[in-house]
Amino acid sequence: MRAAVIRGVGRRFEIEDVTVDDPIDHEVLVEVRASGLCHSDITVATTDMGVPMPSVLGHEIAGVVIAVGPAVTRIRVGDHVVAAALQPCGACRACLRGKLWACTNPGALDRHAEADPRLTGVEGAVGQLQGLGGFAEQALIHENQLVAIDPRMPFEQASLIGCAVATGGGVVLNIARVEPGDSVAVFGCGGVGLNAIQVASLAGATRIIGVDVQPEKLDLARKFGATDTVDSSRVDVVKAIAEITESAGVDHSFVMVGVPSVGDSALAVLGRGGTVYLVGGMSQGAELVLRPSPGESALLPYQLGVRGTWLGASNFYHDIPLYVDLYLTGRLNLDDLVSRTIGLDDINEAYADMERSATARTVITFPSA
Ligand SMILES: [Zn+2]
Ligand SMILES: [Zn+2]
Repeated sequence: MRAAVIRGVGRRFEIEDVTVDDPIDHEVLVEVRASGLCHSDITVATTDMGVPMPSVLGHEIAGVVIAVGPAVTRIRVGDHVVAAALQPCGACRACLRGKLWACTNPGALDRHAEADPRLTGVEGAVGQLQGLGGFAEQALIHENQLVAIDPRMPFEQASLIGCAVATGGGVVLNIARVEPGDSVAVFGCGGVGLNAIQVASLAGATRIIGVDVQPEKLDLARKFGATDTVDSSRVDVVKAIAEITESAGVDHSFVMVGVPSVGDSALAVLGRGGTVYLVGGMSQGAELVLRPSPGESALLPYQLGVRGTWLGASNFYHDIPLYVDLYLTGRLNLDDLVSRTIGLDDINEAYADMERSATARTVITFPSA
């Protein structure tokens, strides 16, 4: 089968023939039908994060199950599935409490050392980032990372649920627990930010402020439920949000972009008791200045919080079917998230385009076999 392989940090994706092994134990072979292009994959491809190379990246996957290992119980051949970029062992204390992101034994999902590699390329074993490897025609994945979904769900929209939707929606529902009447600022209105906006709207937030530097993304933010938008390349975002909120500040401030100065702004726009949620990956060594006391944006007197987040603290076995349900009942807009579909061969060009343009999400689609 064909796969987009990264052979070293800073190299291009190379489309290669890769052999995928038969599923053993709890593994599931998925025919990939759609695979979303997330920013975090290009970060892994271009910066040294200790990911073993060569590797197949891609973690926003929707497809059809074509084979299962002998120990698989939750997934059947023919199921439509969405994958998640967490590797929950299913047995540790965190997993049993539903905190899949805090699993202490994610290595339990790897093949045992004596087994053949799952993927073999021209020069030997090829890794799969986070146990997935969605930039390929087929992906061999542990069943714990898969959720069967309603087959009426279209694959392109479904693929985005595993990351962009689970992250943006999850940080609002599972971590911030936004309530009716809350006010929200979302810094960065790409795939993750737009989902935070629309889920905050579903949760009943009355003031939802989208912040970005690209006018097209601010248009999308309004379409997804933002009540106000701020172009931070043109105006002082802290002043603008003070005006919008009549100096009250916001209850929740979500940082979707990995720019430390945005973290400072997100803190400065909080109202009393407000919290900043760091969602977008920051570069190594990035710092956020926190002042406990006194003065403006001081944590103690204003009772402010700063919270790191990962994949929306999702219990994806519950959350992915929830988002599918919200889509199928017309309450979650995923159609406007898919701004473009491409073939696997266009992946390098599409990532380059993403850096330049204001697209929400590009999705690779594969013709059904
Ligand atoms: Zn992602
Ligand atoms: Zn676990």
